[in-house]
Amino acid sequence: MAAPANEPTFRESVDLMFNRAVALMDLPPGLEEKIRVCNSTYTVRFGVRLRGKIHTFTGYRSVHSEHMEPVKGGIRFAMSVNQDEVEALAALMTYKCALVEAPFGGSKGGLCINPRDYDEHEMEQVTRRFAYELAKRDLINPSQNVPAPDMGTGEREMAWIADQYRRMNTTDINAAACVTGKPIHAGGIQGRTEATGRGVQYALREFFRHPEDVKASGMTGTLDGKRVIVQGLGNVGFHAAKFLQEEDGCKIVGIIEYDGALYNEDGIDVQSVRDWIVKHGGVSSYPDATHTAEGADVLEHDCDILIPAALEGVINLSNAARIKAPLIIEAANGPITAGADDVLRSKGTVIIPDMYANAGGVTVSYFEWVKNLSHIRFGRMQRRQEEARHQLVVDELERLDRYLGDAWSLRPEFKKKYLRGADELELVRSGLDDTMRIAYQSMREVWHGREDVTDLRTAAYLVAIEKVAKSYRAKGL
Ligand code: GLU
Repeated sequence: MAAPANEPTFRESVDLMFNRAVALMDLPPGLEEKIRVCNSTYTVRFGVRLRGKIHTFTGYRSVHSEHMEPVKGGIRFAMSVNQDEVEALAALMTYKCALVEAPFGGSKGGLCINPRDYDEHEMEQVTRRFAYELAKRDLINPSQNVPAPDMGTGEREMAWIADQYRRMNTTDINAAACVTGKPIHAGGIQGRTEATGRGVQYALREFFRHPEDVKASGMTGTLDGKRVIVQGLGNVGFHAAKFLQEEDGCKIVGIIEYDGALYNEDGIDVQSVRDWIVKHGGVSSYPDATHTAEGADVLEHDCDILIPAALEGVINLSNAARIKAPLIIEAANGPITAGADDVLRSKGTVIIPDMYANAGGVTVSYFEWVKNLSHIRFGRMQRRQEEARHQLVVDELERLDRYLGDAWSLRPEFKKKYLRGADELELVRSGLDDTMRIAYQSMREVWHGREDVTDLRTAAYLVAIEKVAKSYRAKGL
């Protein structure tokens, strides 16, 4: 669902939010425009012979800012893909990478296609052809432009893209770093698939570590027992909701999908809904919740945390005033239009903005890219050494244990946990957690530290734009 016709387009919406932040900054003349505009958008139309007929596809790759290279951002496969959307998403990538200190400029790609209309072999042909068109113009390249999954794409497409690039660049030793989000056996990294959802969880945990911020939303306490509504049970929404339910005690009371919404005050089991969707193709017949055909209505239900994790523009001027959630975390890119953002801010709703909330994906993409360039799995050198050192401590404690008799002993669970050296997944999660905490703190410093900044989105833009501006200044611009 796009924003209604009486509202600005997605790109204009991003620019409006950008302008609101820039008005509070003191940038040298002209730099504001240089940062805001999208540097280039390449449009390609190519034909693929399928089922005896040539099908023409349209694709885009936008480069928003090259203040750092490579530029980074996903490739989306959807019928709704258009230039305005790809440019808006590329701009968000610039600010997102700056905010979480992933050393990339912003880029985004898209292909107008409904992946459900084609079988696996056909999708491979189309994806490889699109990758070929981009790679031959260096719009896929380990040192210049590194795509990743987005809506409608995943590990499978990334593996085809990586292989296509390798076929075209047989002597490039860093070929695997040309794209991230690959399967583990094709140069991927542990924890990339869950990364964006995991990042949403870490973002919420960090928010709830600051009672002052929780108070600003009108809530109290911790994540435990909070009622959550999630829109979109795709990769991001599913992982976020599942982790919040299983590890933080949240109650998922509503799940909105393309064929309606499920609601149950007592909570809905996220994994079982996901299994149901895989088996039945939708949520409409799911037994353990009430089904509403008009799914978007459930966005307006009473809850503590609303997680839009599907498309842009779903919270807009037509429904913003009726949204009850005191806290919204934008797991999707651009789910709240600029107009809706104004309405929600004036109601006192706290919004954890997209450029921060969903940055977990690109953060772990960064780790994958580094892994590919260093040609070694994280933890391979240190793990056993770490275990050996921990063993020394445990041996020593056990010696004391024998001496003290029954008065004191090491708990077996502690021993097991402590003796295990960190594997790649643990290291990735630790790096992601650290990134999400630090980025949140940089936003909240601005949010609470400046009288003229009253929301986290403006704070996020200020931090991100300042970083991009610094990098331009360092280049002498
Ligand atoms: N498509 C994701 C995003 O919007 C991931 C981008 C990446 O990993 O480069 O952030």
